[in-house]
Amino acid sequence: MYDCIIIGCGPSGMTCALYLKRAGKNVLIIERSMPGGQMVITTNVENYPGIAKIDGATLATSMFNQIVELGVDVKFEDVIDCDLDGDIKSVKTDKNVYQGKTVYIATGATSRLLNVDGEKRLTSKGVSYCATCDGALYKDKVVAVVGGGNTSLEDCLYLSNIAKKIYLIHRRDEFRGDDIMVKKIRQLEKECKIELLLNSQVTKVLGDNKVNAIEVYNKISSTTKEYKVDALFVAIGRIPDTQMFKNVECDDSGYIKVDEFKKTNLSGVYCGGDVSNTHLRQIVTACSDGAVASLSINEYLRKR
Ligand code: NAP
Repeated sequence: MYDCIIIGCGPSGMTCALYLKRAGKNVLIIERSMPGGQMVITTNVENYPGIAKIDGATLATSMFNQIVELGVDVKFEDVIDCDLDGDIKSVKTDKNVYQGKTVYIATGATSRLLNVDGEKRLTSKGVSYCATCDGALYKDKVVAVVGGGNTSLEDCLYLSNIAKKIYLIHRRDEFRGDDIMVKKIRQLEKECKIELLLNSQVTKVLGDNKVNAIEVYNKISSTTKEYKVDALFVAIGRIPDTQMFKNVECDDSGYIKVDEFKKTNLSGVYCGGDVSNTHLRQIVTACSDGAVASLSINEYLRKR
């Protein structure tokens, strides 16, 4: 029986584990892939206080080593079902069933799909959701990036050092990403490294065994044009991972509702980071959520 079972080993889950373990609690973290969450696929983190610039994977490894050295139990398993209603919480994975007095949900979010013809069929054959993972495969090739948020802009900057040419395709003419990033993109546009296709949407991904072109619809001219590309990087946001939590209340966008203490609607169940209905989804806010939740969990365990 664990004092707390943390689901998700991103910055939020790891911070919660760190604080709880230092408070003498018996903690388990369950992660289905690799530790670090979205951090692992972030090229440069430049807004984590005290560290001017670090690559996400290094920061993730450093956080992970810290909790492992403290003695936090970590299992790399896939959570498939949870019973979180009673006093004893039960978390079922593909390999085991674990019991805990509390649960901290920090599952983050997964990549949103474009849902266009050819996307699924050509995933890993030129369609990618992680430029930092797959970008190196496209040295001196022509690639396209879809999206208008910080991820897509960061992907373009990263790919500009690898690819011969980049098309950045965004459905509006204004970017959601930070001004500082947009300025860097505009500079690359001047250098003819990037071509912006604004007010445009990818409507088809073409190719037999690998991507060789995309079809793009321009909303202003109402025309569709084919662009020869070797890869399509999709960076259009993420969807919160909540499907295994049956009775946990979510907002209209599917994010888990939490109060200022990171409590959900279920007693003994807490949540933080990208999967929660927070205003800002950054590493620093994910860590903050984990720390706040650890205090709430400690308080709950003390009263229990
Ligand atoms: P995001 O900010 O939600 O942006 C998603 C983009 O995809 C938006 O521009 C959106 O268009 C577009 N989009 C959504 N659905 C689409 C669809 N079906 N077809 C075409 N386009 C679609 O997501 P994100 O860029 O992944 O960023 C997520 C969070 O992480 C943000 O808070 C961001 O600031 C943060 N982040 C920070 C850093 C950093 O600080 N280094 C790096 C990456 C991400 P609209 O604009 O028209 O809605």
